Amino acid sequence: MSYTYDSQNIFAKILRGEIPNSTVAETDHSLAFKDINPGAPHHVLVIPKGAYVNFDHFSGAASDTEILDFYRLAGKITNDLGISPDGGLGYRVIGNSGEHGVQDVPHFHLHILGGHSMGRMLPK
Ligand code: AMP
Repeated sequence: MSYTYDSQNIFAKILRGEIPNSTVAETDHSLAFKDINPGAPHHVLVIPKGAYVNFDHFSGAASDTEILDFYRLAGKITNDLGISPDGGLGYRVIGNSGEHGVQDVPHFHLHILGGHSMGRMLPK
């Protein structure tokens, strides 16, 4: 597979420090920050620092170290926010990819949403 990464996307600019963000946590390979237009009381975006377009690009091309770092950080944030079902009331993780996934920013990211019931994922 060949993926084309747009280095002018807004998350690339955040990673280069060209635009501000509200950082929640940072590691060597990943960054977590508050979504600028939150869809729930807690809405955090987790991104790898590497130039990956979407979920399948990241999953297939990132190093084991990057993947481990990313998922460990995403999981830790649910605990830090107090929304893990282990002590909290749960959350939803969303990853949009491509046109049918309605991905707006072409830098791989997961949304972590919580703080109230998220309702059913899709209408039945
Ligand atoms: P997606 O549709 O999955 O690509 O989601 C992109 C998300 O990025 C949306 O929820 C936006 O609100 C969020 N977003 C866009 N620009 C910024 C920004 N500068 N800082 C934080 N979140 C942003």
